[in-house]
Amino acid sequence: MHENIEDLTHLKKLDSSTVLQCLQSRYKQKQFYTWAGPTLVALNPLKDVPDLYSKRMMHLFAHESFTYKTPHIFALGQRTLRHLQWGLGKTHQAIVVNGESGAGKTCNALYLLSFLAAMETNNNEVPNSSNIEVLLCQSNPLLEALGNAQTLKNENSSRFGKLIRLVYLGEGASTQLVSAHIETYLLESTRVARQAAGERNFHIFYQMLAGLSDSLKTELELKDVPIWEIASERDCNAVDEAQFHATVAALEKLSLEDTANQLWKLLAALLHLGNIKFTVTQETWTTNQRHHLESAARLLGLNSNELFQVFTVRNFQAGTKSPAVVRPCSSQNECAARRDTLIKLLYRMMFDTVLESVNEKLQHTNNDQGQGHLFTPKYLCILDLYGFESFQYGNSLEQLCINYANERLQYYFTINYLKEQQVHLANEGLNSIDLDENVLDKHNLISFLDGPVSVFGVLNEECYLNRGCDDSQVCIRIQSSLNERTKGVRSMPPSPRMPRVSRTKAPPVEFAISHYAGLVSYSTVAMLDKNRDQVPGEMMSLLSKSKSPFIKLLLGKDALIFNATHTMNGRRHTVLAKFKNSLDNLMRILNACDVHYVRCIRPSVSEIHYTSSPSQRWDQDYVDAQLKACGVIDTIKVSSFGYPIRMSHEEFATRYQYLSSSRRDRNLDAKEICRRISENYPQMASEVRVGNSQMYATEKGIEMAERWKLQV
Ligand code: ATP
Ligand code: MG
Repeated sequence: MHENIEDLTHLKKLDSSTVLQCLQSRYKQKQFYTWAGPTLVALNPLKDVPDLYSKRMMHLFAHESFTYKTPHIFALGQRTLRHLQWGLGKTHQAIVVNGESGAGKTCNALYLLSFLAAMETNNNEVPNSSNIEVLLCQSNPLLEALGNAQTLKNENSSRFGKLIRLVYLGEGASTQLVSAHIETYLLESTRVARQAAGERNFHIFYQMLAGLSDSLKTELELKDVPIWEIASERDCNAVDEAQFHATVAALEKLSLEDTANQLWKLLAALLHLGNIKFTVTQETWTTNQRHHLESAARLLGLNSNELFQVFTVRNFQAGTKSPAVVRPCSSQNECAARRDTLIKLLYRMMFDTVLESVNEKLQHTNNDQGQGHLFTPKYLCILDLYGFESFQYGNSLEQLCINYANERLQYYFTINYLKEQQVHLANEGLNSIDLDENVLDKHNLISFLDGPVSVFGVLNEECYLNRGCDDSQVCIRIQSSLNERTKGVRSMPPSPRMPRVSRTKAPPVEFAISHYAGLVSYSTVAMLDKNRDQVPGEMMSLLSKSKSPFIKLLLGKDALIFNATHTMNGRRHTVLAKFKNSLDNLMRILNACDVHYVRCIRPSVSEIHYTSSPSQRWDQDYVDAQLKACGVIDTIKVSSFGYPIRMSHEEFATRYQYLSSSRRDRNLDAKEICRRISENYPQMASEVRVGNSQMYATEKGIEMAERWKLQV
């Protein structure tokens, strides 16, 4: 019979199979949350459990102190808020939610947010529409419409990372939420132009096609078009229409009605652009979709001939002083790629601009009632970042970025948790852990990824040098840089964390990296292009001629970014350089915070089953892999460091009382009996330790005790 406990680190035996059994038995009993030390493990119920998040539950967790230790997302919210209010630990607090796609990150982040918002509503006697909590809750459907999409794994998959920073002022019970800021990471903009089979574009396209009024559809020339290449209208469903109204309501509540109309215009233009195809007639490029070209140009405030020119003709410039040479594109693919570049660019600029408007609203709320000057702001951050990703084929720059982010977060967690464990063991009167040799080396893969001689190093350098290196040459360079790095550490025993390089007979286009969560094989095909993410200069100049005020607005902000990020010592910033930079910033934020973790686990890959019972929804291997990937096993390993078996003094004393002396002294307390046992058996000294609060043992130690027990 396995144990069913609320904290995995209290399991008698700390290993992955015991952890799995414990979680499975809790899942069967509909206990979806479990602590793993300071971390909260959240199992996805794969169905609605309204009682779990009801107003009554919120109230319970907000006001009853006995709920403090009950594993629940509200308990974590409450604990974090208390830390912030009462100034326990660091000034700022952060909650990091991770897990793979569909595991429940966004749902848990939302429950957290609604719990924290409800705490505020309790504080405010009369909530009104410009209260931060109302605005925050409205920003969610809007950002989900623009940044979420249906994928093979999740009907509502977030295609961007998100850090919500809640700003509080005041102290103790008078601490108040006054404003907020949302930062996003790496929107998957490739999805706007193309989606994998069975996946959809961002929700907003289908919402709009399902929900726009007839008159607006006519105005935007969206009627009677048999197919939209980038978002098939046939994919729209009833949910899209309902969500369209939620998105419109959110825009209204955020006072962004004006943006709404501009938004439909821009999105309609993107739909039209996506339908333009290219053909060659008498050695010049033409299109049979002239009407789509005209519509797109009109909606974007551009001249249609100039727009077509930008898709079909390239400008070359050998040096800054030499005149530009103009050459028609050589293939349909090249023209289509240029069209897609524009679609992606416009979508990204739109997303950033809408986010900026939302942030402006979240910053200027009426919650700050003049206490601003009295207190320094305290932050409570919620991070919902994409989980570790590994596909069988075709892992590319996106996966490299995602896995790099997870690698950094995991390393950050390990270091901090290990430090806590060191303190814990010291408090128990036991030796502390040797951080450097035992654990950290194994975890430090990060410099292999982003250091000076590294995967990022090679990919960036090739983009800067622009010397026409092909996919296989890039791969060879990455492999040799990884080999170079591993040379210096050859004297060490081979570590499972070293990057490995694959050896194939054909020209190599794949290299493999052994991440903490598993081995991932990356393909270098098109990686340089993705990293360069170049927007042709002539495309930017064309956009700058737009008569559309919205394009001017998008460009006004982005032109600055464009200039700033596209030159660094005369070089353009690459996607990887920008991403590393944003993660460095994120780490700086986390460093200033006490960080709490939620690890989300999805019990099976299958779709949501309303009829099946929890035991039917449990896929052991799948859960096991996720526990490893989201760091729960690491937490357990670190918790069990050195002594994976723990039990109370009472239990140990009862089990092995005969080892203390030939006759049990009834007056001795359990801890004293334990101490006597360990004195009587010095051979066991390094295997069984008497801690101040409990016993710590290795498997060997228990084996010895069991053997001797039979002998006395
Ligand atoms: P992605 O990385 O793709 O964005 P995610 O980890 O954010 O995935 P969610 O969108 O939060 O995943 O969850 C996926 C689905 O699982 C939800 O749409 C919902 O149906 C279900 N789900 C997740 N968490 C819960 C929960 N706590 N209660 C009920 N259902 C849940
Ligand atoms: Mg999500």
